Amino acid sequence: MATDAFGRRIDYLRISVTDRCNLRCVYCMPPDGVVWKGHDEVLSFEEIERFARVAANEGISKIRLTGGEPLVRLGIVDHVRRLRETSGIEAIALTTNATLLRRYAAELSDAGLKRINISLDTLDPEVYTRITRGGALADVLDGLEAAFEAGMDPVKLNVVVVRSLEQDLLGFARMTVDRPLHVRFIEYMPVGDVGEHSCTSAEADGWTEADHVSTDEILMRLSAEGAAAGLGELAQVERTEAPGGWGPARYYRFPGAAGTLGVISPLSHHFCGECNRLRLTADGRLRTCLFSDDEIDVRTVLRGGSDDDVREVIRSALAAKPAGHDQRHGTVRRMSQIGG
Ligand code: SAM
Ligand code: SF4
Repeated sequence: MATDAFGRRIDYLRISVTDRCNLRCVYCMPPDGVVWKGHDEVLSFEEIERFARVAANEGISKIRLTGGEPLVRLGIVDHVRRLRETSGIEAIALTTNATLLRRYAAELSDAGLKRINISLDTLDPEVYTRITRGGALADVLDGLEAAFEAGMDPVKLNVVVVRSLEQDLLGFARMTVDRPLHVRFIEYMPVGDVGEHSCTSAEADGWTEADHVSTDEILMRLSAEGAAAGLGELAQVERTEAPGGWGPARYYRFPGAAGTLGVISPLSHHFCGECNRLRLTADGRLRTCLFSDDEIDVRTVLRGGSDDDVREVIRSALAAKPAGHDQRHGTVRRMSQIGG
């Protein structure tokens, strides 16, 4: 079992398999995208799988694949299968924009991937195209259907709430009534573009305090709008009944709903004390905290060192994992380069 210097159990590894993406979400990437890492800079699947093997021996049992957009990387299905077969790895999850999910859902499910998080911030097709700078909402909704058809479970929607986007939160809440869909509202975070957060808006590419909506406010809005729409009283779901999660979401439900509504509050309610994760970037850096740019180079070790050397890097990352973060300062890397 892996524990860090503060006694937290670390059993969850998020792996960014690519920094590339087929969308350019306003809060994640600049309009022209970022300069992609060169082929040699990005870890090969073999290198990632070797890292996962060693990490599993150190106590990692859960892996989430992310990106950039993980489904744009060729060979992703076989990669999932091999990771799933790694001794000690109990489950694999994927975070995706779902634009390519219809193509891959059945194969991914066969390869052992059941847990899926789909990122979707609006149900309005025009707004979706604007937020993602070119994406088509119909592709995502089709990808969501494909996830259910492929028997994935749990199926979650991640909604980043940004004030200036004026999202219809109730529209998402309604989607949880008839089917086991778990919608999680996530506070907008200042990641990327360090030092440039003060004078722009999300649409102009940058985080502002004014665009941050706390999860307390999100819950108040959901309760009031849900009651007014006849959905009943929003009630907290006990942890034991919540959709199996690896993270810090708190879950709620309208009476009789098949799915749930979750909130994730990295800014308004720190959950650093419960942090259970490490992150591996596509270019082979270990990040011990989403909000810290202190990274440990594991690529060099994967390319020239032994498994013992890789193990030492993991142990030094655990020892260096900070107690918490001062997240309002932003980070050098953007979210698409970290993986969320
Ligand atoms: N491309 C995939 C996707 O969009 O699901 C995976 C990578 S994306 C960076 C992972 C998650 O980070 C997405 O749910 C996205 O909405 C979220 N994200 C990106 N920038 C964010 C920000 N500034 N604050 C909060 N969440 C953010
Ligand atoms: Fe791409 Fe995901 Fe970032 Fe959107 S949030 S630009 S889909 S990596």
